[in-house]
Amino acid sequence: MQMLQPLRLIIFGPPGCGKGTQCPFLEEEFGIIHISTGDLLRKTAAIPGSKIKQIIDSGGFVDDETILQMIQAFIASNPKCKEKGFVLDGFPRTLQQARAFDNNPDLAVNYPVDKVILLEIDAEVLIERICGRLVHLESGRSYHLTLNPPRIPMTDDLTGEPLVKRADDNEETLRKRLAIYMEKTAPLEEYYSKQGKLIRIDVSMGVEQTKQAIFNALKAQ
Ligand code: AMP
Repeated sequence: MQMLQPLRLIIFGPPGCGKGTQCPFLEEEFGIIHISTGDLLRKTAAIPGSKIKQIIDSGGFVDDETILQMIQAFIASNPKCKEKGFVLDGFPRTLQQARAFDNNPDLAVNYPVDKVILLEIDAEVLIERICGRLVHLESGRSYHLTLNPPRIPMTDDLTGEPLVKRADDNEETLRKRLAIYMEKTAPLEEYYSKQGKLIRIDVSMGVEQTKQAIFNALKAQ
């Protein structure tokens, strides 16, 4: 099967749908770079006095210009993004961000997105998933206390470094984020469907089957 090369993807879905789990699989299978705007922002937020920390902890959105500049800077400083492609995770969050990307002369011309993966999941399952989530901050790898536990409790499988529970992974913040997702991010489904780029994946079947479904869908294109 002839794959698109480079391969430029967007992955989106409600919080807790498993984007952070699936992206490393995409990196490994296709050699592409995982660009998580949330991870990039959390690194910035770790700098003392950063205003971004307050926005993230409250579940709000960082402004579009900051996000676009951050993505452009990341792509420009990572030659593999040009050579192999990337998967954008956490961006776009809104129709406005999707349009800003498509209207950006650099991004739209040099890095047009090929396919957009929507991870679909029942809303009730989300709370259980997200409240047990654990992440390795440096790499963005994510685990779950019961559904996808690390080999050693609270320890990253690959580096042996500690895992953390994110400050925004609590029920109150999640409910706020879910409502924001429905209002702001869910309309991307129609936007990318009209562009003929949307791939819908049902993630209720578990991590491994979801991975295979994504690979099959991409290889069938
Ligand atoms: P995530 O790890 O994708 O859930 O992102 C964590 C937080 O980072 C979000 O709740 C937002 O505060 C912020 N963030 C990440 N991506 C974006 C984006 N594309 N636009 C605005 N804010 C973002």
